[in-house]
Amino acid sequence: MTTAIIFDIERNSFVDGPGIRTTVFFKGCNLKCAWCHNPESQDLKPQMMFYRDKCTGCGKCKQVCPSPGKCTLCGRCGLFCPTDARKVCGRDYTVEEVLTEVMKDTGFYDNSGGGVTFSGGECMLQIDFLLEILKKCKENGIHTAVDTAGHISFKNFEKILPYTDLFLYDIKLFDSLNHKKYVGVANELILENLKKLFAAGAKIWVRIPIVPGINDRIEEMQQIREFLLDCGKPEKVELLPYHAMGENKYRAIQKESLSFTVPTSETMDMLKSVFN
Ligand code: SF4
Ligand code: SF4
Repeated sequence: MTTAIIFDIERNSFVDGPGIRTTVFFKGCNLKCAWCHNPESQDLKPQMMFYRDKCTGCGKCKQVCPSPGKCTLCGRCGLFCPTDARKVCGRDYTVEEVLTEVMKDTGFYDNSGGGVTFSGGECMLQIDFLLEILKKCKENGIHTAVDTAGHISFKNFEKILPYTDLFLYDIKLFDSLNHKKYVGVANELILENLKKLFAAGAKIWVRIPIVPGINDRIEEMQQIREFLLDCGKPEKVELLPYHAMGENKYRAIQKESLSFTVPTSETMDMLKSVFN
């Protein structure tokens, strides 16, 4: 049976493609963006998240734990914690399980032009599962979107192309050295794949996270614009302002985070004007 490690399934999303959507978040990522707002998505394996500020010290978690001192990530403590201070992030899902969740909102998809979005992490790292669930969704008449950072063999794109109505494709930085510095890998493969995806006739929304001090410059946006004019026409370009909502998650998984400021609306307008 094909399974995937998934850490969240979010219904009623308005931010991951058109209409009302269900977004399925796959665990595991091959990038390490310095500003990642889902740091719990980076590691493929399930992990414990502990929100110290929510813990009242009631001790319930210790009472119900079947394996004190040697956590097996069974998740029992999270079920009994009265303040949601503990949670195991990520577990194996079957295709049928995910499809059942996705099918719950078909009425909303039909009325709003929505559907399902597979995101992460990098959902294309678990390609066999992704392919199967995309096929099932198409069999059931559901609009499908794949949210990817594109640092993956193009063979994977070829597999899912016939079953993917829309790609949400990230461009984070245009300069490859800076890309390597802040994202962990160079960006040549990502840009090459985007070109090939356009050539294959895919429908694409390009998404650019705007992070002050990293890429909030007109010249950066102009370079991306020139590249896009050269290789294809995205249906949409979305500029996504950095937000700090992921910071408590870094603490919950005991990972160090870098601090960035939130871009002003003036900066966002200025950068958007490059694409208008
Ligand atoms: S996840 Fe399970 S084994 Fe780990 S601390 Fe919680 S109850 Fe104990
Ligand atoms: S059950 Fe929750 S609130 Fe109580 S001690 Fe454990 S983590 Fe803290």
